[in-house]
Amino acid sequence: MVTARKAILIGEAIGKIMSDVPTGEVERISLMNASGRYLAEDLIANADVPAFDRSLYDGYAISAEDTKLATTECPIEFEVVGHIGAGAVFHGEMKEFQAVRIMTGAEVPKNCNAIVMLEHVKELKNEGRHFIAIDEQIPINEKIFKKGSEISEGTLLVKKGARITPGVMGLLATFGYSEVLVGVKPKVGVLATGSELLEVNEPLAPGKIRNSNSFMLMAQIEMQGAQPIYLGKLEDDLERSYTTVEHSLKQVDLLITTGGVSVGDFDYLPEIYNRLGAEVLFNKIAMRPGSVTTVAKVQNQFLFGLSGNPSASFIGFELFVKPVLKTLLGNMEPYLISHKAILAEEFPVPNAYTQLIRTKVKVEGTKLFVSSNGLNMSSSITSLVGAEALVVLPPSDVGYEIGCVVDFLLLSEEGQKDCHFTI
Ligand code: AMP
Ligand code: MG
Repeated sequence: MVTARKAILIGEAIGKIMSDVPTGEVERISLMNASGRYLAEDLIANADVPAFDRSLYDGYAISAEDTKLATTECPIEFEVVGHIGAGAVFHGEMKEFQAVRIMTGAEVPKNCNAIVMLEHVKELKNEGRHFIAIDEQIPINEKIFKKGSEISEGTLLVKKGARITPGVMGLLATFGYSEVLVGVKPKVGVLATGSELLEVNEPLAPGKIRNSNSFMLMAQIEMQGAQPIYLGKLEDDLERSYTTVEHSLKQVDLLITTGGVSVGDFDYLPEIYNRLGAEVLFNKIAMRPGSVTTVAKVQNQFLFGLSGNPSASFIGFELFVKPVLKTLLGNMEPYLISHKAILAEEFPVPNAYTQLIRTKVKVEGTKLFVSSNGLNMSSSITSLVGAEALVVLPPSDVGYEIGCVVDFLLLSEEGQKDCHFTI
């Protein structure tokens, strides 16, 4: 007998999942391998940046006061008494009307408080001595990147839980973090179910399709900074499926299955949860695609039962698995970023459930427009390629017209507080 399932709202489903997700383990790794990982400690400046006054240009270091009376009619001459490149330091004593030729990035000699660019001086050579003429007054601190002007020691620069982006990598290196404390990558098992499934390298055969979900999901897992584990595919056979799921749970931190969660004759996941003694958080969501998405827990271990339909599976990961992975990795902003946009296309079909449409986002003037990115079917794979957002269409008896303002969820990398389309 098929027991009626109670559909809950997407937000409710996310709430049930997220009510009890701990932060995962941490480990110290080489900076070399830290790109894309999640910081498990605050990144605090352990020095000023710059650490010393640096020249911003190739030029001459001088004392600005010495240029007070300089004019085009009456330029002032300085004798060049030193020459330093980046990394070098001038150790001599400087007197009035003396200059040191200095290259970008080099430390400004003491007693100097301005740089005049090479292009702005006239070079003069006189009996083996080197002079320059300056024909304008130079302000104090001109072309100097002052010590601590970008970052002062002790500043909190990147919070624990942030993704290590290329910019963060640069900061870590700046402060000498050759090793970094990061969240341990959760091991996420991916198990595809369905007697129709072939391995990728198998030729097509009547009634069969290739297991595309596992590869799509493993890529999604990887992009989140977790570790995907391919656990193969299962025939729709209860006994063997049960044994494999039970065994798989021991190898991973959380397990994603695709397919077999519906009410079909060969959908065995509900019975498997039952035999495992799993707590089923929900088994029906008022959303399309993916209404049969099921999430269960055995002790504290998550089992995500995603629908076999590729679009449903993809969206199920984005909405329900991603925030768990990010939380395990210590990230405090685990949800997809939401913005508003205008429908550039109608969606006239009434729907009792919230629809999630794979879309492109386009900027016109100062407005954002969304339009579907291919077939709006749960079985569609092509609509996932290049999809930039999921437009959220709440239940409606009449559908949605062109011009309606709708919410969309950005399908992009985290770390963006603002939508990149608006800049
Ligand atoms: P199910 O959720 O098992 O009822 O499957 C729903 C649809 O998704 C069926 O048409 C399946 O053939 C298809 N499907 C199931 N698993 C996969 C998979 N791993 N890759 C691609 N399509 C799949
Ligand atoms: Mg199936």
